[in-house]
Amino acid sequence: MIIDCHGHYTTAPKALEAWRNLQIAALSNPKRGPKAADLKIGDDELRETIVNHQLAKMRERGSDLTIFSPRASFMAHHIGDVETSTTWAAICNELIHRITTLFPDQFAGAAMLPQSPGADTRSCIAEIERCVNEYGFVGINLNPDPSGGHWQSPPLSDPYWYPIYEKMVELDIPAMVHVSTSCNACFHTTGAHYINADTTAFMQFLTSDLFKVFPKLRFVIPHGGGAAPYHWGRYRGLAQEMKKPPLTEHLLHNLFFDTCVYHQPGIDLLTKVIPADNVLFASEMIGAVRGIDPQTGHYYDDTRRYIEAAALSDDDRHKIFEGNARRVYPRLDARLKAKGL
Ligand SMILES: [Zn+2]
Repeated sequence: MIIDCHGHYTTAPKALEAWRNLQIAALSNPKRGPKAADLKIGDDELRETIVNHQLAKMRERGSDLTIFSPRASFMAHHIGDVETSTTWAAICNELIHRITTLFPDQFAGAAMLPQSPGADTRSCIAEIERCVNEYGFVGINLNPDPSGGHWQSPPLSDPYWYPIYEKMVELDIPAMVHVSTSCNACFHTTGAHYINADTTAFMQFLTSDLFKVFPKLRFVIPHGGGAAPYHWGRYRGLAQEMKKPPLTEHLLHNLFFDTCVYHQPGIDLLTKVIPADNVLFASEMIGAVRGIDPQTGHYYDDTRRYIEAAALSDDDRHKIFEGNARRVYPRLDARLKAKGL
C-alpha cells in the first residue's frame, strides 16, 4: 500500500471561499455574518471535486490512501478571533469528514484546529475530540504560528501547548506541524513561511526536553523537515554543545519527516541522512507546486518517482510508503486492519 500522509482539500467548491469571504466581511459585526448552515454543498458536487482532481491524481501516480486535511493556506488563523476560527475550522473539518465518508478507502481525515493568536489552546480541545471521536480522523495539523508570519506564540516546547499535547497522547494521534498563509510581506507563504516554520519547529524541539515530558508525542514535520536534514551536522553539533543526547535519541523517537521535497537530489539527501524509520511518504498534492519539471518531464509533486529511484532497500521503501504511516497514525492502522489490510 502507498499511504500519502499529506494532502489538502485545495479543490473545494467555490461556495466555501464565498462563505469565508462573507465571514471576513462581517468581522466587525459577526452577528451579520453567515451561519454555518448557510453553506450548502451537495454530495455530488463534493464527489466531483475529488474524483476529477485529487483521486484522479492519486490513481495516475499510484498512491492508495491520502491523509486529507483542509486547505492549509485557508486556515488563516490570524483572521478574526477564536470564535471566527472555531466556526471556520468546524466547517472545513466537516467537509473533510464528508469526503472520508464518501471515499472511506481512499481518504482518512486530519483536522484543522480553531487556533487564534493569543487564544488559550484549550479552545481547540472540543474540535479535536469531535474530529477524532465522531469523524474518525487520524491526526491533526498544529499551527506553531497562528499570527501568520509574525511569530507571537510561545515556542512549541512551552506549556502553552500542553493541553493539545495531553489530548494527542490521550487519543494517540500525531500532529503535523503546519503553518498557514503568511500575512508578513517578508515571507512568501509556501516558499519561505512553510519551510521556515518546519525548521523553526525542529529547533524548538531540539532546544527543549519536551519529549521527556511527553515521551509518546509524535509530530510529522512536513516539506521534508524544512532545512533540518540538509543541515543535520549543524543540528547535531548544536545539540552536542547544549549537552543534549544524540539527535537519534533526543528527537527521532518523536519526530518524523515527510517526502514533500520536489526533486531527486533532495529525496536522496533526506533518505541518506534521516533513518528510514523516520520518513513518511507524502506529496502535498494538490498543493504548493503544481507544474511540470522541464528537467524530468514529470510533475514536481509526483514524489513517488523519487522514492522509487532512491537508493533504498525494499524494506526501507516499504517503511516509507506504508509501515511508518501505520505506526505514526495508529488509528489509521486500526482502520486498515479492520478491513483486512
Ligand atoms: Zn501542507
